[in-house]
Amino acid sequence: MTERTHPTVASYASSVAPYAPSRHPDSDGALVVSVLPESPADDIGIVPGMRVTHVNGKPLTDMIVWLWEMDGESAELTVYDPRDGVTETAAIERFAGEDWGVDFDGAVFDGMRTCVNACLFCFMNMLPKESRSSLSIRDDDYRLSFLQGNFVTLTNMSDREVSDVIEKMLSPMNVSLHAVSPEVRRRLIGRNAARGMEVLERLLEAGIEVHAQIVLCPGLNDGDELRATLDYVEAHPGITSLAIVPLGFTKHQSRFTSSYSDDVEASRAVVDLIAPYQERARRTRGHTVFQLGDEFYVDADMEVPPAETYDGFPQFYDGIGMLRSFIDDVERLRTECADDLEEVHAALLDDRTDALLVCGRAARGAFQTFCEALGGDVVSPSPIDNRYFGGNVNVTGLTCACDLFAQLSPDLSAKLVVLPDVMFNYDGVTLDGVHRDEIVRELESRGGSVAISTPDPRQLLDALRRALR
Ligand code: SF4
Repeated sequence: MTERTHPTVASYASSVAPYAPSRHPDSDGALVVSVLPESPADDIGIVPGMRVTHVNGKPLTDMIVWLWEMDGESAELTVYDPRDGVTETAAIERFAGEDWGVDFDGAVFDGMRTCVNACLFCFMNMLPKESRSSLSIRDDDYRLSFLQGNFVTLTNMSDREVSDVIEKMLSPMNVSLHAVSPEVRRRLIGRNAARGMEVLERLLEAGIEVHAQIVLCPGLNDGDELRATLDYVEAHPGITSLAIVPLGFTKHQSRFTSSYSDDVEASRAVVDLIAPYQERARRTRGHTVFQLGDEFYVDADMEVPPAETYDGFPQFYDGIGMLRSFIDDVERLRTECADDLEEVHAALLDDRTDALLVCGRAARGAFQTFCEALGGDVVSPSPIDNRYFGGNVNVTGLTCACDLFAQLSPDLSAKLVVLPDVMFNYDGVTLDGVHRDEIVRELESRGGSVAISTPDPRQLLDALRRALR
């Protein structure tokens, strides 16, 4: 294939399901988990449980190989059938635009690339000893950067892999930059830091678009080093967004005892430092490019910037603009769904029920705006301090069952507790290993009723309405 762009790959990148590694990394190929009836895959007899080992003779190691090789209207698949232990190769064909009709159990099938770094701020080194082992997997796989938006350092990439990214124009990539001066990078990331910059330069030269990230650590990569990094980004238009997020730390380590969350002035200094870069970028490139994590504005006691400065929220899931988006969604509810708000408010009053919206301490202000839109008297945020992780951890997604149990009242009569779905993993388990069903049982035993919702204003309203029916 000679073309530089690859539409099927690009469209997959924007719609791919959240990270779910192959459950059989030691087996060849990709495990088939579902087949669409009457699809091309169904036509050639593929069924769930089989493994596609090769596509057009190439080992099927990840979804990039699949999307690249399966872009046309015909291909050759080698499939292993565990029922009889036979491996066969068959031709598969489709009409233009037709779905092949097969889903696999993840995005990479030959095992995930793990990191070769020793970042001082690595959250994996700050976990409680009893944390789930899956939490401490140090993935640093460039394929997942493209396929799922994971941030990677590029420090473990071989020349062949770099060439592959360039040949297939796997763009955009999400890259952890952190700093640009060799000595600061080495101190911050470890002895392979220089390789990350080498690869980044090659990708940028080849026209790969990059979304970059800095974890800002007081005294390590802020001040002059931050200016140097911003200058680098400014000089490389291929970096189309830069997210700066503050150091997060837990009580289960001894290196860090403070961050921007404890220091209004330091947070304001960061807001002020990037302002001229933002203004220049808006003037010269038409985009803000340089973005701060929401926490900086909260910690600086400042209002978050307006939505139009977020360039379409390219780093939303890195915590860039979530707060603005939530606040604006509440405003939209007020204007577009006033009847729905009134209906839910009346139902809570009729039911003589107070709703408690569980969230992390960081989201309290945003949740408060939602509660006010609902009248404020019958619904309130219930921020849970994160004592399990301690330190400055305060986000909703890291809320743990032990803190919930300890901090909610033992008497929840006439209370509807709305739990954020982001505190559970795909198996419905919290970070301290408690299943959702166990939490619901415990809260119900205290007299409460329980709903679970995505922490998004529209979803919260729907969850309340459903629970009150
Ligand atoms: S690259 Fe990520 S996982 Fe690896 S040490 Fe750094 S922060 Fe930790």
